[in-house]
Amino acid sequence: MMHPLNEEKVFKDPVHNYIHVEDTTIWRLINTAEFQRLRRIRQLGTSYLTFHGAEHSRFSHSLGVYEITRQIIALFERNNYSDWPKEEKLVTLCAALLHDVGHGPFSHSIEEAFHMNHEEWTVRIIMGDTQIHDILSQVEPGFPERVASVIGKTYHKPIVVNLVSSALDADRMDYLLRDAYYTGVNYGTIDVDRIIRMLRPHQGRIVVKESGMHAVEDYLMARYQMYWQVYFHPVTRSSEIILRLIFQRAKELYISGYYFEFMMKPLVSLFKDEVTVEQYLKLDEALIQTAFMQWSTEKDPILSELCSRFMHRRLYKYVELEPLDRDMIHEIRDQFYQSGLDPKYDLIIDSPSDLPYDVFHSGDEASQKQIILLDRQGKLMEISEVSDIVRSISGLQRGKFRLYYPEQKIEAALSSFSPSVARIFKDN
Ligand code: CA
Repeated sequence: MMHPLNEEKVFKDPVHNYIHVEDTTIWRLINTAEFQRLRRIRQLGTSYLTFHGAEHSRFSHSLGVYEITRQIIALFERNNYSDWPKEEKLVTLCAALLHDVGHGPFSHSIEEAFHMNHEEWTVRIIMGDTQIHDILSQVEPGFPERVASVIGKTYHKPIVVNLVSSALDADRMDYLLRDAYYTGVNYGTIDVDRIIRMLRPHQGRIVVKESGMHAVEDYLMARYQMYWQVYFHPVTRSSEIILRLIFQRAKELYISGYYFEFMMKPLVSLFKDEVTVEQYLKLDEALIQTAFMQWSTEKDPILSELCSRFMHRRLYKYVELEPLDRDMIHEIRDQFYQSGLDPKYDLIIDSPSDLPYDVFHSGDEASQKQIILLDRQGKLMEISEVSDIVRSISGLQRGKFRLYYPEQKIEAALSSFSPSVARIFKDN
């Protein structure tokens, strides 16, 4: 049940202008310690090292996803669409607001390094001994479970999951707009108001009115452009790789019994694979950066060098190769070993598939990745059946991959490489 606030609360937002909070539960969730923690986690991880404006937090993104969802539902209700299950409003809004609450600091790299998953953490936080759980429990018995199952995509009404996470969901609409705004890259600017007006609840899922096809094409083009211009930016990837190497090295050292001059409890729990919800909630980017600054003078030369690189933005250089030639990689690795280099830390291969963001893939009905158009006769079509633009960018992956390496170290070793390997690093 919704419990309206006596007076609506608003947050000023550069992307949506205002974020409107009408319900007591939503207001109380925003004010929990767990949700406030998202202020200390950047939405785009290390992208601020490439685009200095990209300092926006997961807090602002989460409010944005909530606001878009609120606007969609308000429109459904205003138009009295009979296929929208009205009783699902609060659970949908809570799931939209909380969908990212389990993100860790520098989420992408930390998840890779420690084999964690933010969705699982979101569910653990919603179901754990937390303020969020308390507030959700007060709505009605079983309510936290309902919110968690929307996040886990197992909720019994797929239309609710559709709104929060699908090919055309409130999450993607907000991050495209927000990331474009804060990076200053214009490609992500989409007409969200128009898209929202074209959405229809239809037979248990969300579809798009056929006349909204061009707005959706625009949205998919924006997604495509942002992927290549921002999310897969080579400098951002370089900093993510260094982060991952730091975590990897620190864990290695911890397990081998190395004595750290500086250490903090939440990090120990991470290295031991014993993170509790309580420890997890203490992990934020301030803590990680404090550790890195301290570790930049650790005795271990690999750890101190990597931390100092990250803190002072001395990133690895890269060379782009296509296509991926396994034999060539083997040869490069061999020569790295022979020259006394360590391919584990001095040669990192990066390919586009290592990203949480993707360009649009049509097909794949089960994974909610389709975008369905509804024509005047009530016929449903998958967008790539009718749009040439969507067909041409759908699933398009460039074959390129990148080799990242510490420049000076490799330069010093160049003369000992074979000519074909030396050429890869020399021409750069
Ligand atoms: Ca999100």
